[in-house]
Amino acid sequence: MREDDHISREQCDRSAHYRSVHGSSSRNPAPHPLSPCRRERGPLRRRPSFKRRWQQRSWWVRLLLSLLLALACVLLLAVLLGSPDPDTSPSTSTASSGSEVTSSPLLSQILDYVGAFIMPCGNCFYRVKGQEDLCESFFMYNRAKGTLYDGETRLFLRGNGKPVYMYSMGGLAEYCVVPANALAVLPDSLPYTESEILGCVVFTSYGALRHAAEMRPSDSVAVIGVGGVGSSFICNCLQIAKAFGASQVIAVDVLDEKLQNATTLGATHTVNAANDDAVERIKEITDGRGVDVAIEALGKALTFSQCAKSVRDGGKAVMIGLAATNVMGEVDITHLVRRQVKIIGSYGARARQDLHQIVKLAESGAFNLQNTISRKCKFEEANGAYEDLNHGKIVGRAVVEIME
Ligand SMILES: [Zn+2]
Repeated sequence: MREDDHISREQCDRSAHYRSVHGSSSRNPAPHPLSPCRRERGPLRRRPSFKRRWQQRSWWVRLLLSLLLALACVLLLAVLLGSPDPDTSPSTSTASSGSEVTSSPLLSQILDYVGAFIMPCGNCFYRVKGQEDLCESFFMYNRAKGTLYDGETRLFLRGNGKPVYMYSMGGLAEYCVVPANALAVLPDSLPYTESEILGCVVFTSYGALRHAAEMRPSDSVAVIGVGGVGSSFICNCLQIAKAFGASQVIAVDVLDEKLQNATTLGATHTVNAANDDAVERIKEITDGRGVDVAIEALGKALTFSQCAKSVRDGGKAVMIGLAATNVMGEVDITHLVRRQVKIIGSYGARARQDLHQIVKLAESGAFNLQNTISRKCKFEEANGAYEDLNHGKIVGRAVVEIME
């Protein structure tokens, strides 16, 4: 189309609009003499009514338009009827000690749920950044003060009604309130008590490999955790690494018993760090390069250093073991810079996206849940279990069962 054609079409449209508003009159601007509308359509005529145009359409066009209109009405009705009641928003849903959840439009059925120990608010700066494991509200209110995100606790002693402030859910309470963001439905196919670890140790291991290490199939993975607390992380990191398609899975520990267990859980190699230099052995196993991903699960200066030295050039050393306050770890700065080694901290995972995936993995048989639980206690035995934990007598995971 030429430029003057374009101008004349605009003029034609303007004059047609003027006529539709003011009717035909001598004041109406005359169409441009070279207007394409004029040339194509001939003399101007009044636009037919909607009813007339509807009758002129073929029967199948009318049928299609009618169906589309009906569908739009049904969808609008569904949206209106399904709008959540603001008084029962998901962030204030009521939960029992894990067996029942009510009072939420999202969680309106009585089902078993598993909860993650990081409960994202779903509204903060880190939610926008896609890092809900750093949720500001969780750390500001629940981690620091033991409250939910309105600054209040929902836990009270049964006898005197005194408030209880509790980090991450309800501890040993029979009933507690948790944000729905931190829950995933527990299917009947998974065991109730043993699945407790899905939102804790498995959650932590999954976050380390999925987000911190960004593990890919065929990666080689070493998990360094020397006995004690680190052992349960080893078990789960091994199983998740295997589920993610790791080519080599190397378990490092000082107890042969733990290493044998690691082999049954999918470790392709084991290193007893009490007998061998862990870093040298890892390099031997990986043709001198080091692993793609190394996980440190104990939080000690020695294993921190071993983890950083165990990765290949450009590899990722992921730290998930918590240390005592002010414990420092050493790293060879020049090696880190020249060889592009990445040292990454990881704490938990992203509940809303990860917990459902973890449950699916568990359903697929990726985890040996029974093997990770080293002790089950009754509610009356809880104090003794905490004593044993303080004295390092619990290796693996202990679970307190509160059954009615
Ligand atoms: Zn948040």
